Amino acid sequence: MTTTPCPGCGLLHEVSTEQVVVARDARQQLGAYVDAKGWRRLLVVADANTAEALGDELAADLAAAGHEVATQRFAAREGLLADEDAVGAVRDALAAARPDGVLAVGSGVINDVTRYATFLEGQGYVCVPTAPSMDGYASSVAAMQFDGVKITLPTHAPLAVFADPAVLSAAPPEMIRWGFGDLIGKAAARFDWVLASGLSDEPFCEIVEARVLVPLTRCIEGVEELLAADEEAVVALTTGLIESGLAMAMMGNSRPASGCEHHASHFWDLLAYRGLREHAPHGLQVGYATRFATAVQRASLDRLGDPLLVPAGGGGGPEEQKWFGEQYLALGPVRDEKQMWFARYGDGWPGTPEKVADLARRLVSAASIFDRVGHALDLAGFPADAGYLGVDEVALRATFRYANRLRSRFTVLDLLESQLHLDDVLDEVLPVALAAS
Ligand SMILES: [Zn+2]
Ligand SMILES: [Zn+2]
Repeated sequence: MTTTPCPGCGLLHEVSTEQVVVARDARQQLGAYVDAKGWRRLLVVADANTAEALGDELAADLAAAGHEVATQRFAAREGLLADEDAVGAVRDALAAARPDGVLAVGSGVINDVTRYATFLEGQGYVCVPTAPSMDGYASSVAAMQFDGVKITLPTHAPLAVFADPAVLSAAPPEMIRWGFGDLIGKAAARFDWVLASGLSDEPFCEIVEARVLVPLTRCIEGVEELLAADEEAVVALTTGLIESGLAMAMMGNSRPASGCEHHASHFWDLLAYRGLREHAPHGLQVGYATRFATAVQRASLDRLGDPLLVPAGGGGGPEEQKWFGEQYLALGPVRDEKQMWFARYGDGWPGTPEKVADLARRLVSAASIFDRVGHALDLAGFPADAGYLGVDEVALRATFRYANRLRSRFTVLDLLESQLHLDDVLDEVLPVALAAS
């Protein structure tokens, strides 16, 4: 834990994760970490796939080194949910094994379940990723699905992360694409963060920004290598995903890694939950959304200096309510927060011409990566038109028209809606069907 203010922003960036290793000798370093902690009894949590990929060997290594190793191995090969049953199974294993330390060997669900169960039991855990598929490894929130509903719960971050590039690059190629999609979304998240901090007193930190931007840039420039599972490229992706988690921990919220492109993905999750489309992997959704998010952001640059006229977040017309269905009422608190944001900062914009020029300069800089983002999305096979992942043109337009109802965090969609420009911009940048001739 740091106790000195950041030289970049003056905040205390509290990160409880002690060690992050992405290297070929990750297993040896993990062994040394476990010994330094004085952990004798260990619990390894894995599923059938991740046990085969790494968990079984790791457990054998640790047993050979003199540790008492218990395993919680989920039999599922796919479809394991981060639900009450899975959490209960890990809690039972914790009660039976009474370990000194816990190792979560796997990707998204294994980590979320282990993180949540160890948090409830007040037990530290170490994360051992097996695929570069998502940015939650170093995060402190758990994405759970209770009673069939997806929720994110504040829990604890891992004590350490040990990732072996040889294991990661042997992950299913599709999972590498998921991770790529999640990481490339940080380009749009960064723009929204710069924008919101320029319009309000929301903190911004260039040091935290750079931790995500550097590996992001490397990934964008090495997409072909990444898709070929080149080990160095996979290391860059994994580092970017882990750094995104640390960046969120440093700011105390998900702002450095999540903007309107993530809100679009949440909107699609809601449509899937309502049976209006099939569920799709998070990273694919975020990558797909990033193309349109960055187009909207780029279009906002021409309108930046216009005043904010109305609060964003919705009058709640029938069209809007149709998309949210019975979830609509639950969005009241977000609406209230948007109103409060507007009451506090709405009059302050555009302020002086210098202020607008300064923000415009910072946003142009944030957008300077967008052409390369688009090219990288092309190479990775993310289409630029509607119809992918069960999102047709009508749904795509509704996504960027209404996704800002789902989260109180200010994004470019709120700016444009407040300026009464959002509809025009969506007409301008979203793909439309070619008229039948
Ligand atoms: Zn800082
Ligand atoms: Zn994400």
